[in-house]
Amino acid sequence: MKIDNCIFCKIANGEIPAKTLHEDELFRVILDLNPATKGHALILPKDHASNLFDLPEKTAAAVLVLAKRLAADMSEKLGCDGLNLVQNNGEAAGQTVSHFHLHMIPRYVNDGQTLSWTPGKASQEELEEVRKTLTE
Ligand code: AMP
Ligand code: ZN
Repeated sequence: MKIDNCIFCKIANGEIPAKTLHEDELFRVILDLNPATKGHALILPKDHASNLFDLPEKTAAAVLVLAKRLAADMSEKLGCDGLNLVQNNGEAAGQTVSHFHLHMIPRYVNDGQTLSWTPGKASQEELEEVRKTLTE
């Protein structure tokens, strides 16, 4: 189901034009308007889900299969040297459009982009505490 006032619902369902790379029953794949690199694409489910927390499992499973197929196309047709999948959930994680989307960012040697974080430090005890929190 789509919701009012959601730009990606409108794009995914063809109400607002976008550069479409692929469309099927579940998804529309478009080029990002502000590409990090040549070929930067977004996989949009047609049904609204705000983010991964809301995404039905069927859609979650299908999205990676589709990403794998598109990755092969990007590699072959764009000649990219690598590829990042990026998927932000919630404002704290940098999500700016509240409709699930998976970024596919083809990477090229010396493309000048960085997708990185600062590695932290954790003791074995701290890691164990987190492991317990998540598993018990
Ligand atoms: P995020 O920060 O993960 O929520 O990413 C939102 C992405 O959507 C950004 O990379 C934007 O450039 C892209 N974007 C926003 N509006 C549009 C649009 N109308 N068409 C294509 N891409 C869009
Ligand atoms: Zn939506």
